[in-house]
Amino acid sequence: MQIPQRSVDHGRRAIVVGSGPNGLTTAALLARAGWQVDVYERNAHPGGAAASAASLGPGTIVDLGAAGHPFGVASPVFRDLDL
Ligand SMILES: Cc1cc2nc3c(=O)[nH]c(=O)nc-3n(C[C@H](O)[C@H](O)[C@H](O)COP(=O)(O)OP(=O)(O)OC[C@H]3O[C@@H](n4cnc5c(N)ncnc54)[C@H](O)[C@@H]3O)c2cc1C
Repeated sequence: MQIPQRSVDHGRRAIVVGSGPNGLTTAALLARAGWQVDVYERNAHPGGAAASAASLGPGTIVDLGAAGHPFGVASPVFRDLDL
C-alpha cells in the first residue's frame, strides 16, 4: 500500500505488531509522517478481526467487520488518510 507522505524521510523506523484496523492506521500515519514502517502479522492475511474471508464457501467473500466500513467516511482519521 502506498501512503502519500507529507514530510521527508527522516530515517526513523517503527515496527507495528498486528495488521488489524488499528495497526494499519498507525502504520499509515507513521509512513505518511516519513517513518519507515514494518508491520508484523501472525495470520496469513492482514485485516485482523475486520478481514474478509470465504466464510460461506468457495466463491464468496464476506467482510467480517463490514459494519466498520462506514467509518471510512465517518472517522476523522480514516477520512484524513484518503484511502
Ligand atoms: C466477530 C466480530 C465481528 C465484528 N464486527 C464488527 C463490525 O461489524 N463493525 C465494526 O466496526 N467492528 C466490528 N468488530 C470489531 C472490530 O473488528 C474491531 O474493533 C477491530 O478489528 C479492532 O482492530 P484492532 O486493530 O485493534 O485489532 P484486531 O482487528 O483484532 O487486529 C489485531 C491483529 O494483530 C495480530 N496479532 C496479535 N498479536 C500478534 C502478535 N504477537 N504478532 C503478530 N500479530 C499479532 C492479530 O492476528 C490481528 O490480525 C467485530 C469484531 C469481531 C471479533
